[in-house]
Amino acid sequence: MKIASVIVDVPTYGTNKPFDYLIPEKWEDVIQRGMRVIVPFSGRRVQGFVIQLKDESTVSELKEIVEPMDVHPVLNDELLHLGNKLADETLCLTLTAYQVMLPPALKAKYEKYITLNEDGIRHLPDSLGKLLLEKEEILWNEGEKLVGAAFLYKGVKKGWIDVRYEVKDKGRKKLVEYFRPAMDRPPFIENVSSASRLGKVQKLLIEFYLSDFRPHSTSELTNRFGNVRGSLLSLERIGLLKKESFEQYRDPYQHRVFAKTTPLPLTVDQKRAIHPIIQTIEKNIHRVFLLYGITGSGKTEIYLQSIQQVIQKGKEAIVLVPEISLTPQMVERFKGRFGEKVAVLHSGLSIGEKYDEWRKIQRKEVQVVVGARSAIFAPFENIGIIIIDEEHETTYKQDETPRYHARDMAIERGKIHRCPVLLGSATPSLESFARAQKGVYQLLTLEKRMNEKGLPEVEVVDMREELRKGNRSMFSELLLEKMMERLLKGEQIVLLLNRRGYSSFVMCRDCGNVLQCPNCEISLTYHKVSNEVKCHYCGYETRTPNECPTCGSEHIRFFGSGTQKVEEELGKLLPEARTIRMDVDTTRKKGAHEKLLEAFQQKKADILLGTQMIAKGLDFPNITLVGVLTADTMLHIPDFRASEKTFQLLTQVSGRAGRHELPGEVVIQTYTPEHYSIQLAKNQDYRQFYLREMGIRKNGQYPPYYYLVQIQVSHDNLQLVVATMEKIVRFLRARLSNRVLILGPSVAPIAKIKNKYRYQCLIKYKKEPNLLEVLRKVQEMFHRNQNQKGVSITIDLNPYTLM
Ligand code: ADP
Ligand code: ZN
Ligand code: ZN
Repeated sequence: MKIASVIVDVPTYGTNKPFDYLIPEKWEDVIQRGMRVIVPFSGRRVQGFVIQLKDESTVSELKEIVEPMDVHPVLNDELLHLGNKLADETLCLTLTAYQVMLPPALKAKYEKYITLNEDGIRHLPDSLGKLLLEKEEILWNEGEKLVGAAFLYKGVKKGWIDVRYEVKDKGRKKLVEYFRPAMDRPPFIENVSSASRLGKVQKLLIEFYLSDFRPHSTSELTNRFGNVRGSLLSLERIGLLKKESFEQYRDPYQHRVFAKTTPLPLTVDQKRAIHPIIQTIEKNIHRVFLLYGITGSGKTEIYLQSIQQVIQKGKEAIVLVPEISLTPQMVERFKGRFGEKVAVLHSGLSIGEKYDEWRKIQRKEVQVVVGARSAIFAPFENIGIIIIDEEHETTYKQDETPRYHARDMAIERGKIHRCPVLLGSATPSLESFARAQKGVYQLLTLEKRMNEKGLPEVEVVDMREELRKGNRSMFSELLLEKMMERLLKGEQIVLLLNRRGYSSFVMCRDCGNVLQCPNCEISLTYHKVSNEVKCHYCGYETRTPNECPTCGSEHIRFFGSGTQKVEEELGKLLPEARTIRMDVDTTRKKGAHEKLLEAFQQKKADILLGTQMIAKGLDFPNITLVGVLTADTMLHIPDFRASEKTFQLLTQVSGRAGRHELPGEVVIQTYTPEHYSIQLAKNQDYRQFYLREMGIRKNGQYPPYYYLVQIQVSHDNLQLVVATMEKIVRFLRARLSNRVLILGPSVAPIAKIKNKYRYQCLIKYKKEPNLLEVLRKVQEMFHRNQNQKGVSITIDLNPYTLM
């Protein structure tokens, strides 16, 4: 094999195909499929992936490969295949697809070291052999100087020497900033009283230090008081505080010992559910199972025992969870059962640590990987099961290029490895449940909660009624009363502020009516600048009315309220309550989630206040009250999945209360108590919700009845954006069959981001064999013109965030 086909690292559509290169003789035994190499390309040296080795090429005048980059292939044949499929189905570059499957470390800088293998010494030239005997390991480059790179590659291949990669990772040691009082307490107090003109925040901080006279980390102080770093620094300047930095561990699992657990005897229901899974594992059959079981019904135990079976067969398991840092307890359970056999890929790891976990997988040192979306590309070669927990979560779809869905990748890998794919959820996505109804997936159900307690009591409070009673606060009387009860008893409370970033809809506070598009059954989005409301699906727009079109009230306004505001109000209403706030601001730092949750678990606070992120995976015995402040907000985002997402969230969050001995209660505050997604979440009636929602999807021609494609165009010139979008729509109309619905052009839900205007169109279809081909043409057409004008286009198949 003298010729290699290479996908080069030049991310354009023009170069999105293999190029042939000659393999120089010295690399002939070395270069393999799935390795990265350095090749000359248009006068430069670029990286590339070898995708095929062959003896002949249709091109004459071939250039030579410069050198290999890897010692072992980084992508095996299966992953190469998966990458090609991903590229085809999400319309991305092959290169991009390959890259997304690799750990980020392989794109970072790293150093290669070589070590001697026991009987390798006989084969090595003296110079190298001596050095390796003397030192435990040497830099690859050092060895290369002595014997040449080709010899080293040969040595690795023959097993004479071993290679170790070390990622140069700035983030390895994490420093944490602290401020401590610069002197003892008495002089501190003296200095404070003589300091002239302290600001309000400075005074607040000093008071805090006086109440707890020791070093406090900046992050702790910001969690408590908001962004106070400036004030801290100013206090340092006047000599009251002193700044220090300490190193801190970063991997929350690294130094932890996990209590060993053993398989529990399964209940009758669990046995019934696990039986078909075990059978497919035994018989090497690919099948997709949907395990629908309410929260606390014992799904995780089924995952664990299925994996047990897989490990016994000498095979491997991939477990996907929505976002590990939000579900530390899940990791605990896998580590507790399988110990060292588990690799964990979570966002809290540094690049180097992620790479270490990836290498454990590649070297077959582990049999189980638990990780977020990209763990689906774990380089296992003998997979026995793939599990996707909380399968309805939208984080499984990547919302930037390549826009793949982990579920699709899992099913593809499941087919290749002839193994089951197990999707689990208490609130399956409509798509998956519909497939289970049709028999495409096999449905398994767990209907009862383990602790036989049944589900918590749920009360729905009508906030319109509160307003009528003169209560203008965000807390209803009922919720406030129940919170006080909990505080007295020393039990804990979870408060959910259901808020989605960009959405602002217009709602009547008297009747709860939300302005809807007359054409789309979608709420209209408020645009402050023009004082208009617009539909982001069809383009309908109108002035924002001053009165409610339903009841004539003037209490009509747009909505949106933040966690900080709630925290303030809590401070006024329940000053003695200790609150932990969890939102994007307080959890931006790595490991912050875990820490806040741990503090809450250790009862360092009475109330956990947060956004969607607190709804998942929490399993603390002392939580007996869950309050949802604004159940509506998500109901009115301009997304056909709004009801589904609301139902899922309310069901999930309700499942947080009363999972243990103490009974739980839930209070849902809403302006639309009669809405079916709220009523059915109250009763935790998934099946009824499914039926209702399917009816609506059918009428509205939405998934799962129709497939959806979203095309968006953006640029800082509005006219250009509109013209381009119109051109695309014309192109589509001319080439797609008339069974396809094309909506738009319309302005995107977020009309402008970073000064770039955004327009979009939506394609709805059931079956359209040449759709991908047409879309690819659109893409290519663009990438040809793009350079001159800079219009960017994204095509999202089966989009999950319609923003
Ligand atoms: P889910 O994953 O559906 O939320 P879990 O697997 O977490 O449910 O189960 C809920 C609780 O019941 C857990 O504390 C778990 O340890 C316990 N549990 C699960 N299966 C069994 C069983 N067969 N026998 C006893 N306890 C069980
Ligand atoms: Zn009204
Ligand atoms: Zn519309």
